[in-house]
Amino acid sequence: MNTQANIVEQIWKEYIFQGNWIKTNNLSRDIINPATGEMISTVQLASLDNVNSSVEIAVEAQKSWKNTSFESRAKILRKAAQFFEENIQTFIDWNVQECGSTLLKAGWEANACIEQLYMASSMPMAAAGEIFPSSISGRTNVWQRVPLGVVGVISPWNFPLLLSIRSIAPALAMGNSVILKPSEFSNVTGGALLAWLFQMSGLPEGNFQVISGESEIGEALVNHPLVNLISFTGSTAVGKKIAESCAKQLKKCVLELGGNNAMIICEDADIDTAVNNAVWGSFLHQGQICMQTGRHLVHRSIADEYIQKLKEKASSLKVGDPSSPETQLGPLINANQHQKVCRMVETAVEQGATLECGGQGDQLFFHPAVVTNISKDNPLFTHEIFGPVAPILIFDDIAEAIEIVNSSKYGLAVAIHTARTAWAYDLAKDIKSGMIHINDQTVNNEYHVPFGGMGESGYGGRFGGPANFDEFSQRQWVSILDKGIQYPL
Ligand code: NAD
Repeated sequence: MNTQANIVEQIWKEYIFQGNWIKTNNLSRDIINPATGEMISTVQLASLDNVNSSVEIAVEAQKSWKNTSFESRAKILRKAAQFFEENIQTFIDWNVQECGSTLLKAGWEANACIEQLYMASSMPMAAAGEIFPSSISGRTNVWQRVPLGVVGVISPWNFPLLLSIRSIAPALAMGNSVILKPSEFSNVTGGALLAWLFQMSGLPEGNFQVISGESEIGEALVNHPLVNLISFTGSTAVGKKIAESCAKQLKKCVLELGGNNAMIICEDADIDTAVNNAVWGSFLHQGQICMQTGRHLVHRSIADEYIQKLKEKASSLKVGDPSSPETQLGPLINANQHQKVCRMVETAVEQGATLECGGQGDQLFFHPAVVTNISKDNPLFTHEIFGPVAPILIFDDIAEAIEIVNSSKYGLAVAIHTARTAWAYDLAKDIKSGMIHINDQTVNNEYHVPFGGMGESGYGGRFGGPANFDEFSQRQWVSILDKGIQYPL
């Protein structure tokens, strides 16, 4: 780690970031490396009073930030991208040691953050409105974009940098101030390092702050009357609570939630490509991805070959120390998650499913598992797993497969493998899913394409490209008359 980052580490142990590092006597939380169980740092937590003072600071700071020229806002975001690039190894190292990310995953995520920051830097100059005609002579009607004010970002631990930056950067670009509540399992990678990043980017003080803590800190942010938008990425259960609280306050919220994503492998699929894709979709980052391929639906005519090849490939993957370049799967994030995945697989096997390979490993490790003979209503097939497990169901008829896919309460991503691409494109409109990938796997994210789910996977909006303008600003109608008119009353 570089010296500058070492200095910041000494700071986040005792200070919280409210636009500047503020010393507190609050509680701190240990940072544990999930691969070794070792304590590797501590982070100072925010109190409920700190949430209130952060919001007050953000409200004040935003008053001048919203009037900052678009060139200045763009320059700060470009500076943030450059700083990220210059210090990329620090971001990668923390992602590996705090979150159990492999070097491959952490490297991909870091580069994606740089792209997000550059993309957001183009927004201030592109925030166009529209001019409308008027029925009143001499009147001009325009609608323009204005910021929302204070944006609360609540993020998960699985992609702690990217899933925070994808909201923070466009929110700042549109002239909002931002308060981030990172996950308690990624307080450094998804919290303290971002404080460092935005401080070094030259962002005026108070426009970005970090409040680390558990759910009550997130709830306080959601319930604060001066926070105007909550941008949340996390579980469906927590998303529902946030939606309820926001509805009571008539507060806008954008929720990106859980998933149980299906991959349909048709009889005419290229089996080797489908297997290669399935390995990525089910096992990348130990399956701890909202878009994880959690349901494999394979046509009976090719099922034996698909299962055999997937089993061989899954068994060959290297599980272990995520900081080693050869490792393909690191540990699960914590003991709760590990126990949950172990229990789901054990229960499915007790109920008649077959564990073809993989399963529970030592400590927080779990070997990539392929499970067959599973019923379509088994929880291992119907629930989000968030672990490296590939449950396989065989189908005979595509209509039956689509019905099974659509029976999920989720609707995030679906992949279809077939030689009939035009047919699959036509099929897409019958599938309840926010994102459909033909001849690919379910874990896909292109920053300029609006991202989001249907059903219980998403609510309130989408992220990325043109969608970012609508999520992080509001429309205002302004009409202008050169000279006042007289009304007949
Ligand atoms: P989580 O819902 O447990 O926690 C997410 C964040 O919410 C954390 O910062 C947590 O502290 C906070 N939180 C918890 N209770 C809260 C409350 N009552 N009020 C306000 N904040 C609260 O999720 P997680 O375990 O961190 O992440 C995994 C989940 O996130 C999975 O379900 C996964 O599918 C989902 N996810 C979705 C996407 C997407 O883009 N759709 C991306 C990544 C992860």
